[in-house]
Amino acid sequence: MFHLPTQIFFGSDALAEAADYIFNLGSKPLLVSGPVGARKSGALGDVEKLLQSFAIPWAHFDEVEENPSLDTVMAGAQLLRAEQCDYVIAIGGGSPLDAAKAIALVAANALQRAQIYQTELFQCKLPLIAIPTTSGTGSEVTQYSVLTNPDTGIKSGFGHVLAFPSLAICNPIYTHSLNSQVTLNTALDALSHLLEGIYSNKRQALADPLIHAGARDIFENLQPVLENPSLASGREKLMRASLYGGITIAQGSTTLQHSLGYPLTSRFGTPHGLSNALVMLPVLKLFYSARKVELNALFAALNTSLEGFALWLESLNLPSCPPLEDDFIAKSVQEVLGSRNMANNPQEVSAPQIRQIYLDLR
Ligand code: NAP
Ligand code: ZN
Repeated sequence: MFHLPTQIFFGSDALAEAADYIFNLGSKPLLVSGPVGARKSGALGDVEKLLQSFAIPWAHFDEVEENPSLDTVMAGAQLLRAEQCDYVIAIGGGSPLDAAKAIALVAANALQRAQIYQTELFQCKLPLIAIPTTSGTGSEVTQYSVLTNPDTGIKSGFGHVLAFPSLAICNPIYTHSLNSQVTLNTALDALSHLLEGIYSNKRQALADPLIHAGARDIFENLQPVLENPSLASGREKLMRASLYGGITIAQGSTTLQHSLGYPLTSRFGTPHGLSNALVMLPVLKLFYSARKVELNALFAALNTSLEGFALWLESLNLPSCPPLEDDFIAKSVQEVLGSRNMANNPQEVSAPQIRQIYLDLR
């Protein structure tokens, strides 16, 4: 099944085109963002202007941190209730978008902190509008929310059909203010999602044209955008690729690649996209034989080969991986084996294989 309940507005007029749809969702929104990105991107200003012009009141929770915690979600839900908001507008990268999904579900279902991952308790939702300001997670069109439990330091996600945003409003101009590191990391997150759409044993071949187009957009436009951050055509292609990546993982979920990345983020604060990028090539090589036909079709669409793809990745000069201690590797192997995404791999993956991937990063 290919399921996508989110209405998507894409382009420079996306917010104006969505206005009538937004106002049908409720009477007072809670805006959810981080402290900086939403403002810097211009998206927050545009939303405030729109609400003001229709005399619509709002409240704003701007305390979402990177890799948002369960406590942040509870604080946002508390503000939503106190301010009697009846829908949510999330503005930012994946962190504010994911936190907003959980805030809306906690508020709608009166959940306790300990119940946030208990998706069987999700009975109803508050409408959610997602306005991405990064081109990476595709969270604006997924049913996932990835949160960090501060008690354990473990980062993990939940997925539920009620977590799909009602509207995704995607204006590439909001990404022009991203610095080169976030541009790089987030584009490689999107590329991970597209590749995992090929690896996943839940893969939907219907998504293949999106996977090919999205990967080509990144392959051809990432370097030019890094050289010229205000290259409008390139920014547009990267945002489109991110959207396609989100649509792809909404169908087939993520796999080993994301499972390997989460411990790097939790332990070292390595940004999400970079964590995925650091393990991209080893995972590609591990799954190549299981998905040879599909991967060769992808490389043909990129006009390259496995070797050419590896060289392109190398040319991006990714920051090196932090030093991985033996203890970290031993603990992470267990965490990876226990992660939900492991059920989606195209083949069995053993503890020694996971260990070897981490060892090779040293
Ligand atoms: P992010 O953590 O949302 O943002 C990274 C940084 O970029 C923050 O400092 C943010 O500032 C800043 N920023 C955002 N937009 C900006 C802009 N336009 N201009 C300048 N700065 C800007 O990064 P992300 O990579 O988009 O999201 C990563 C999170 O999404 C991870 O937690 C990951 O696990 C999750 N994720 C979710 C899904 C899903 O399907 N739900 C999929 C993949 C990943 P502020 O802090 O001020 O906002
Ligand atoms: Zn991701």
